[in-house]
Amino acid sequence: MAGSDADDAFTYNGGIVEPGETQNIRYGISETYLGDPVRIPVTIVNGAEPGPTVFLSAAAHGDELNGIEVVREVAQEWNHDELCGTLVCLPVLNVPGFLAQERYLPIYDRDLNRSFPGRVDSTSAKRMAHQIFRNFLAPCDIGLDFHTSTRGRTNMLHVRADMDDPDVARLARAFGSNVIISSQGPSGTLRRETSEYGVPTITIEMGEAHRFQRQFIDRGLEGVASVLAEYGVHRTDAVRWPGWRTVIDDEKEKTWLRADAGGLVEMHHDRGSLVYEGDTVCTITNPFKTDSERVEAPFTGLLVGVLENPVVYPGNPLCHMVELAADTRRALKRERARTGPEDDGDVPPPPESR
Ligand SMILES: [Zn+2]
Repeated sequence: MAGSDADDAFTYNGGIVEPGETQNIRYGISETYLGDPVRIPVTIVNGAEPGPTVFLSAAAHGDELNGIEVVREVAQEWNHDELCGTLVCLPVLNVPGFLAQERYLPIYDRDLNRSFPGRVDSTSAKRMAHQIFRNFLAPCDIGLDFHTSTRGRTNMLHVRADMDDPDVARLARAFGSNVIISSQGPSGTLRRETSEYGVPTITIEMGEAHRFQRQFIDRGLEGVASVLAEYGVHRTDAVRWPGWRTVIDDEKEKTWLRADAGGLVEMHHDRGSLVYEGDTVCTITNPFKTDSERVEAPFTGLLVGVLENPVVYPGNPLCHMVELAADTRRALKRERARTGPEDDGDVPPPPESR
């Protein structure tokens, strides 16, 4: 594809990475108010053997940190002696948001993840997106974009992908997650725009913002290894089968439970829990605890995402549920009996030191 020459060098504007070579680059995508460069960190690992070019990106939302560690560990800690192909590792896409520890670009609160593929003569966000897209995403064959839940909420690990596109579906399955939510994604998102351009891309959602959650990072790394195995980039690894899997249509089979009262929320189940129709998912209480509203599960399914910050106005989302068929529920129970609750991304806090 474009960018990988016949001689398998990786080229970008101003640089070339030869087979067998690794480069850590700070690539300028914009300028600050002081005229200093805004530079994103990029590691390009070009394997000695030919093969697909794969990008791994994180922190398109500047406060979503788990993926940063996944991308850095792949880039810096994995052994790539046997690598067949090229890895383009982009641990922090939204550098201004990352510095401010905010989701959006602090410049007019633009969402970098609605600005792809970008434009050279448009807003600051689209100019940055254009630099990233043209140099580091478009030359790839497949891509993985890591996210977490929005601040104040948390997600079990799941993949978002357009399962109607067979090339994207192959990539989504290769990641080996239990839950895949299928949609094209909104216009301007990295995964939709790269996929439409011809670089099949999936989003991985895992955990919460502002944290490193070791178990999610490890699960993310297993997914990357599985994808590299599927495409022959790492020939020694195996493709991961997660034990059970459900593919959800984003439009039809996913539900946000919303608050009908303002108040304080007590969640009765963790993210990743299986809840049955009619179960109390959470209760919303007033400040005096004299009034409480029970929120019931409208069907039997999984809590993919839940509230962490326990305050709501009427209409605010409480949790994100997906329906599970009976055979998938049985497979889930078998798997969890074997391995324990799989989606607990939290390492228990250390005992308080006195
Ligand atoms: Zn995000």
